[in-house]
Amino acid sequence: MLKKRLEIFFIFMIISALTILAYNFYKSYTFKHNPLSQKQRGAIQLKEQDVLKHMQKNFGFAYQFPLIVTDKIPGRLYGLTSYKDGEIKIYLNKKVMQESFPYMLESVIAHEYAHALLFKLGHSTNEKAGHSKEWQKTCQLLGGKDCRQYVNQHEIIMSKMPFK
Ligand SMILES: [Zn+2]
Repeated sequence: MLKKRLEIFFIFMIISALTILAYNFYKSYTFKHNPLSQKQRGAIQLKEQDVLKHMQKNFGFAYQFPLIVTDKIPGRLYGLTSYKDGEIKIYLNKKVMQESFPYMLESVIAHEYAHALLFKLGHSTNEKAGHSKEWQKTCQLLGGKDCRQYVNQHEIIMSKMPFK
């Protein structure tokens, strides 16, 4: 009798585990193959407006850069800023957005905007200058919550994106 009950218990456990697995797979599949939700797009736009407001206040102008959400960024980078022939673009990594959305909003957008702005102002012309003291100050003036000078998870590239 006890053995039977244990058997049923284990079968139930296995079915539950499979259900959760299938659900998670479905969730990440639909996320990967669908555009961002209206709510997420709205949140990104609001944050961008906030960064532009800071720019207006602290730099005297508000320059909006193309902000592109893409799943073509390789690896685990949160975002990157590309600069080529005066053309500056910001990319956010859709692949890490699902698990890191608040961080994207609070930190990554201002972080990348600071790179883009320094490019625009001609203050940052090589990759090594990426996370300089000046960049950190700029990031803070744009309202970034996390303007540490780490380099691991962010990139700037001095070329067009290596992907479409
Ligand atoms: Zn960076």
